[in-house]
Amino acid sequence: MATDIRQCKMCGKLFHSLGNPLCNDCNDEMDRRFVKVRDFIYAHPEAGIPEIVEKTGVPEKNILTFLREERLVLERVSGMLACERCSRPVAAGRFCEECKNELIKALKPSGQVERDRQVQPQQEAAKQPEKQPQSGRKSDRQGMIYSRYNRN
Ligand SMILES: [Zn+2]
Ligand SMILES: [Zn+2]
Repeated sequence: MATDIRQCKMCGKLFHSLGNPLCNDCNDEMDRRFVKVRDFIYAHPEAGIPEIVEKTGVPEKNILTFLREERLVLERVSGMLACERCSRPVAAGRFCEECKNELIKALKPSGQVERDRQVQPQQEAAKQPEKQPQSGRKSDRQGMIYSRYNRN
């Protein structure tokens, strides 16, 4: 793997880069900022960028970088779409990714099982009636009664 010596765009430190413009420290810091911004947007989907900057303390240029890198999607910031299940902001569609996954998990099996269940009960009526093993003995007893009468 080839590494470049680069100057970190954030702190100006020289570091070995694998293509990342930021050193490891700043990269971690940017991840923390990203999570902060993302969580804030989840909780306040209607917030504009100035409010996000004010409440999270993350510089606007960082937020714009996240948007440019598509780590954040602008629709989320403007809050035009909300998940129909948890009302979290979504970039597209009716449900956020988490709810989409949960709905797929929940819907697929139960939908199929219920259809199968409706078919099954009819098969039970087809069971054969049980045989009556005592019918032979009855005629034997009757035979004994007859023989007694015949003696008299
Ligand atoms: Zn740095
Ligand atoms: Zn959701």
